[in-house]
Amino acid sequence: MRSEKVTPINQASLCDRTQPAECEKHGAFEQKVTMLMGKALRSQCPECARIAKEEREARAEAEQALNVRLAISRKLGDSLIPKRFADRSLANYKAEHKGQAEALRFCRHYVKTFDQIAESGRCMVLLGKPGTGKTHLGAGMANDLMRSTSHSAVYRTVGSILQSIRATYDRSSEATEASILASLIEPSLLVLDEVGVSKEQPSDFELTTLFAIINGRYEQVKPTVVISNLGPEQLPVAMGERCVDRLREGGMIVVPFEWESHRGKEGV
Ligand SMILES: [Zn+2]
Repeated sequence: MRSEKVTPINQASLCDRTQPAECEKHGAFEQKVTMLMGKALRSQCPECARIAKEEREARAEAEQALNVRLAISRKLGDSLIPKRFADRSLANYKAEHKGQAEALRFCRHYVKTFDQIAESGRCMVLLGKPGTGKTHLGAGMANDLMRSTSHSAVYRTVGSILQSIRATYDRSSEATEASILASLIEPSLLVLDEVGVSKEQPSDFELTTLFAIINGRYEQVKPTVVISNLGPEQLPVAMGERCVDRLREGGMIVVPFEWESHRGKEGV
């Protein structure tokens, strides 16, 4: 760019004349010159102008994404990911055999393509025996999304959700059932662990709550990851048929964990 004072001019109609000019970076361009109150205003190199505009837009977008995340964090406090699972990531999941490597691959792909997943609301279920690393992968997906993207993610066990809703029935409670449900519906991803953990039939309260969460997310086209020790045929009993129907919409991804438990051996 030459050393003359340059002002960007966008409206060609204001342009009085054009002249050849040279940008240090991008070479020759047609410069628009506009007379304004006796001063000659010269247009910027179009390529420099385009780059500057793109940078401005990228900055604004990043800022907006950060603001959304901060707003959700403020609403939920520090409890997005429980402390116990805060260090879990897909990177520190140890895949020791083929089944685990395959499960890890599915979860990596889910996070990697999360922009599309978020658009289609495609859900995922991690099913299989206890102690096979499902929780690590589920919390890891939530952590990785929170750390490396502008998406928000929440990891919760069904038990902790039911308990926090019951606690709102206490008069002194500040939270309401609606605010708790909203905090589970709003995030880009919800990882719902320990579905059907009790051997007994789920209570009406449990089924109603699960449906409110799953259906609330479904209506907003938001994906949910469900983790359970049950098999696929038992899931409708534990969650209710209607819940599983919502999860299936858009092609539910089922990741089976069929190998034996490593818990105890590794002390996990
Ligand atoms: Zn230029």
